Amino acid sequence: MSKSKVVILGAGYGGLKTLKKLQQANLDAEFVLVNKNDYHHETTWLHEAAAGTLAPEKLIYPISKVVDPAKTTFIQDTVIKINKDEKTVTLAQEGEISYDYLLIGLGSEAETFGIQGLKEYALTITSIESVKKIRAHIEAQFAKWKTEQKDELLTIIVGGAGFTGIEFLGELTNRIPELVKTYDVPREKVRIVCMEAAPKVLPQFDAKLVDYGVGVLEDRGVEFYVGKPVKEATADGVKYAEGEEVKEIKAGTIIWAAGVRGNRVIEASGFEAGRGRVKVNNNLTVPGNEEILIVGDCSLIINPANERPYPPTAQIAMQQADVAAVNLTKMIKGETDLVDFVYHEKGTVCSLGDNDAIGVVFGKSLKGYPASVMKKVIDDRALLQIGGPGIMMNKGKFKFYK
Ligand code: FAD
Ligand code: NAD
Repeated sequence: MSKSKVVILGAGYGGLKTLKKLQQANLDAEFVLVNKNDYHHETTWLHEAAAGTLAPEKLIYPISKVVDPAKTTFIQDTVIKINKDEKTVTLAQEGEISYDYLLIGLGSEAETFGIQGLKEYALTITSIESVKKIRAHIEAQFAKWKTEQKDELLTIIVGGAGFTGIEFLGELTNRIPELVKTYDVPREKVRIVCMEAAPKVLPQFDAKLVDYGVGVLEDRGVEFYVGKPVKEATADGVKYAEGEEVKEIKAGTIIWAAGVRGNRVIEASGFEAGRGRVKVNNNLTVPGNEEILIVGDCSLIINPANERPYPPTAQIAMQQADVAAVNLTKMIKGETDLVDFVYHEKGTVCSLGDNDAIGVVFGKSLKGYPASVMKKVIDDRALLQIGGPGIMMNKGKFKFYK
């Protein structure tokens, strides 16, 4: 009998961790990993590179550090489509590759909710390329101010006060002192506005933590426009709703951080999905295509406690990877007693920049410096679990002093 062929799409938290576990299991199977870049990037650190507080090289490492060439073939390519009936995947360069079992871990894209102008005029925190663009764009606007003296060049609008928006604001406000010095710009000319559609910032946290987080960012100069949804982005700024009225803020930079959707490959491949997320079976297989498993942001799992989908997070993607590896191992061995995924929430920490954060860890609220230390521990843990100790030592965050 020929060896089973397992194809893994995406070398993110879900995909790469699943591969790592499978390689350790000593199976009679052939693994193929497909990723558009030859590096893994820490998606959870992208806002830091976007603001320019961390070099992009610091949040990537070569996929070859995890791939065991004796067991796995790595293909650097872009997935275009999954052909479920033929059990093949169409890649941009290589054409079609076949699989016996498929694991999808292609992550997410920014959700624009069909809002006009966002695709043309807003930048998103989604990949290494996109965050390099953000950093370069902000620096170029500051540089331009010297010759053009148009103050809106120094206005930065962040759409969305969810986790990504708040974490980006934390980094950006820490970068501003360096930017104003480098480009010789008066600090009072810089305007940072955060637009939030909902009546509350970060509704996941209690009011005390949110007030602390908002207070820290306001002290650093952020203006919060809460309950004011962005309606349109233009070449000059954004239009937003204030009650019945539509108002405008002129800005040189618009960062869109108002939520994510699963990868568009999901819809292109004809999966039944909502905003690119497939409601998977409890064992992470796809209903009707049980040879396919999905982990991470392309999957949707309902939280039995409130009957609502779990938010797409790295924490969930990595826990799903453990279960996906167990179930793929069973499938390769011809066993049918697959195990169910059960999410164990350890907590959530939202960074406010290098030395500050808010969060709840193992049910305990944390804020300020202790919370920021916890965030670094979480970040280092992901490097350790997927990249290993060498990668963690090389790329990890160990500045545990103020
Ligand atoms: P990812 O880890 O994003 O990996 C997807 C991989 O697929 C990437 O390597 C990508 O290059 C590749 N890929 C995509 N499309 C293609 C294609 N067509 N062809 C080939 N390869 C492709 N979650 C937390 O739990 N804690 C946090 O602190 C946290 N912070 C975050 C901060 C930011 C700024 C953002 C944006 C998200 C954050 N999240 C956090 C959410 C978390 O990053 C995601 O839930 C997580 O990355 C999902 O893992 P994944 O494996 O599905 O995808
Ligand atoms: P999110 O859904 O958590 O927040 C998006 C915010 O944008 C919401 O508050 C929403 O009301 C707002 N919004 C939507 N439409 C808007 C509009 N038209 N105008 C203004 N505001 C609008 O999404 P996110 O922050 O992009 O995060 C994506 C996922 O990644 C989430 O699951 C999140 O939990 C996770 N994440 C986690 C962390 C962390 O744990 N530290 C950090 C970043 C992201």
